Amino acid sequence: MKRIFTKEIAQRVGETVKLSGWVNTRRDHGKIIFIDLRDKTGLAQVVFNSESDGTVYKEAETLRPEYVIEIIGRVEKRPEKMKNPKITTGGVEVKAEKIKIFSQAETLPFSIEGTGYDINEETRLAYRYLDLRRARLQRVLRMRQEVIYFMRTYLKEREFTEVETPILTKSTPEGARDFLVPARLQPGKFYALPQSPQQYKQLLMVAGLERYFQIARCLRDEDPRADRQAEHTQLDIEMSFVDQAEILELIEDLYTKIVETLFPEKKIKTKPFPRLTYQEAMEKYKSDKPDLRNNKDNPDELAFCFVTDFPLFEWHEENKRWGAMHHPFTKPQTEEIATIKKNPEKILSYQHDFVLNGWEIGGGSIRITDLEMLTAVFEVLGHAPEETKEKFKNYFDAFKYGVPPHGGIAPGIDRFLSIALKEPNIREVIAFPKTGDNRGLMMGTPAPVSEAQLKELHIKLDIDKDNGEKK
Ligand code: ASP
Repeated sequence: MKRIFTKEIAQRVGETVKLSGWVNTRRDHGKIIFIDLRDKTGLAQVVFNSESDGTVYKEAETLRPEYVIEIIGRVEKRPEKMKNPKITTGGVEVKAEKIKIFSQAETLPFSIEGTGYDINEETRLAYRYLDLRRARLQRVLRMRQEVIYFMRTYLKEREFTEVETPILTKSTPEGARDFLVPARLQPGKFYALPQSPQQYKQLLMVAGLERYFQIARCLRDEDPRADRQAEHTQLDIEMSFVDQAEILELIEDLYTKIVETLFPEKKIKTKPFPRLTYQEAMEKYKSDKPDLRNNKDNPDELAFCFVTDFPLFEWHEENKRWGAMHHPFTKPQTEEIATIKKNPEKILSYQHDFVLNGWEIGGGSIRITDLEMLTAVFEVLGHAPEETKEKFKNYFDAFKYGVPPHGGIAPGIDRFLSIALKEPNIREVIAFPKTGDNRGLMMGTPAPVSEAQLKELHIKLDIDKDNGEKK
């Protein structure tokens, strides 16, 4: 017999079915034992009666919460006053005829009933596979999939191609520190994990893809920040032959449809999403990610907006140099290279930020396709032309062979989900998040490696590999 999901039993009254899952609760009423059997679709009430099925009843007496079992039994209507209208299977129950115990379970380190917010988070993360059993997190993961599936379908229907780009790659200047991976086959050399697929997606435009997207993992080795993750997921998009307005319209339409379809209880405050210049945002709201909600206590209000016309450069006082406000591939709003070099502070760019309820949930830009311009921008950032040519040889080679005008954006998926699902932080919407200081408590990452592995990679540590202390 094939196992069915608990949600199906309401349609199977009178039939014998096989169910599998976890013992959610056991209630012992003397001659009758009730089990709530839990599977990914919900709960089913299973009844064991001492008079009608003696041996099965005996086995049911041994069941404890979280045992993994299989039940074969007949689906029957519950007596009228036993019906529970709150759950989909509340009108029926299964009279157990056979039971199989796949696995016993020790008492869990914490309860998986309720939201779990009150439980120590490090404990929840250490036992994430148990934490994920709770209904709240099961829903979060399902809604995450719904959102990603929606994005995929929406973009595929509009001529976008999803392309996977490498994880072992080279450093791209996105403003954070790289995670490095030693290359065993090229001793002394390192891969960088991608801070974003920025260069690949631009080179896919040279490759004639015209419309690219990817549900992309981005890895940034940032200093501990409470609500940041070393790896986060972006909807990475790049388009050829578009202007900034078209990119923003696409995102506005996509997110409006996501909210209307998947989060119908939410109210988008203003449509079309307000477009503010950086200057307006700073003057009016003293922030480049203004919170435009009417009522900040109302979690169902979504105030999206776009911020544009950012300065191209920002001054870094600590090391007395110019940095790129977005990244150095962002197109300036002037063609005059001399002005860029002379008055970098005056130059605006085609950067666009996507903002929701005071959070920056995405950013992007129209890109530089003129190599002289790219060289000039890097010069302001402190790199000699020869160095730029060498570092971005791929651009200098590729752009010679016919490059379309292009631009893109990369909305972050974790932050959007945490706002839409009213979760207090992004760790709650990631299946296996890390702590603020990048430890994976369930897997025990990062972890020391053996001397032999280090030797193979030609790495000598000047600290003790097990406790991190100076030798
Ligand atoms: N690569 C940028 C980022 O990850 C987004 C973009 O410019 O498309 O923030």
